[in-house]
Amino acid sequence: MAGPISLEDARAAVLAVAAPLPAIEVPLGEALGLHLAEDVVADSPLQRFDNSAMDGYAVRAADLAGAGPGAPVTLALAGESRAGHPADAAVGPGEAIAISTGAMVPEGADTVVRVEDTNHADGRVEIAVSPIPGANIRRAGEDVSAGEVVLRSGEPLGPAALGLLAALGVESVACHRRPRVAVVISGDELVPPGEPLPPGGIRDSNSTTLAALVARAGAELYSSGGAGDSLEATVAALEPQLGAADAVVVCGGVSVGEHDHVKDALTQLGVEQDFWRVSLRPGGPAYFGHRDRTLVFGLPGNPVSVFVTFTLLAAPGLAALAGGSPQRPRTTAALADSYAKGTDRTEAARCTLALTESGWVATPKPRQGSHVITSLLEADCLAILPGPARVFEAGERVEVELLPD
Ligand code: AMP
Ligand code: MG
Repeated sequence: MAGPISLEDARAAVLAVAAPLPAIEVPLGEALGLHLAEDVVADSPLQRFDNSAMDGYAVRAADLAGAGPGAPVTLALAGESRAGHPADAAVGPGEAIAISTGAMVPEGADTVVRVEDTNHADGRVEIAVSPIPGANIRRAGEDVSAGEVVLRSGEPLGPAALGLLAALGVESVACHRRPRVAVVISGDELVPPGEPLPPGGIRDSNSTTLAALVARAGAELYSSGGAGDSLEATVAALEPQLGAADAVVVCGGVSVGEHDHVKDALTQLGVEQDFWRVSLRPGGPAYFGHRDRTLVFGLPGNPVSVFVTFTLLAAPGLAALAGGSPQRPRTTAALADSYAKGTDRTEAARCTLALTESGWVATPKPRQGSHVITSLLEADCLAILPGPARVFEAGERVEVELLPD
């Protein structure tokens, strides 16, 4: 039996198999959270035309060269340029055109004077300032020039990117489709909430946790079902999912117990094992394999192990399928308390994070057992603690991987 592999090697093995899913054309309104499958090039500039940054008057700066407090210059009002309604006249020498924010700067004008710096009466405008030429005008192309790559393939589409695309007149974009994930829970003892709990029964909480983790990873829950503790039942539950989903997540039944059948079932179904057992706590018995392009994760059943192994191994794989970056943000933080690392495996300690005068401080949750679901509450990050068993002293800087909120 090969020994456990490192967390880094385990992630690399997942990413070696997880290739971006095919692209589909998606309307902007449905694209939130998807990743672009191609670069987006602006076919027009943004702003599209020179326009006013202020409500005021479009003028020729040279006309106001001598203006100042006590020495106003009077210009003749030659029309109006409103947002969406350009002026039909140009600004000639000695003239001004009233202009609204966002309205097109009329021909002949080179500057906008704020309405606050003017007095307007009887078809005339009195101006007692001498503006810098070009003041209060937003130039065409100031934000984006035509032909510029505005978004790169692989970028996630958030509210700002979607708004930019709309501003450029784009209606739909080529994105990688969301990965479809099948969840299978394994164990005779598991009972969903709402059903009577027999002696020795355990509430199936992982189905609920995994459905939420799948959604938060930007994937789609394709199916969710259970399998009893027999090889036949496990094969029967897994077989239909393997052909249909992009990733199968089985939880429970993946360890060395006599009633753990997941690995044998997967072998029987032609799944090729990439690794089994990771030098990680919690989550040591984690399994990963693939059949054709389908990723198969076998996560140990303890609820915290499921959360940690999904976060550190499955979520990066799903991100890669979705065409995005599999790397979650990492930083370093000082430990608030000493932490006794009990094994030589890399430990993923659930911590809260707080910003103090001396920077980010991570406080490990007090009970770190793999069955302690409450250790996940309020956890902001996983402190990744590699190396041999030892006491990490308070104040020691450790690497932390931020959890999505
Ligand atoms: P296993 O990985 O099958 O050995 O399960 C390890 C522990 O996790 C056992 O205490 C199981 O009862 C528990 N467990 C397994 N699956 C679930 C689940 N879906 N929800 C809650 N606990 C589970
Ligand atoms: Mg079990």
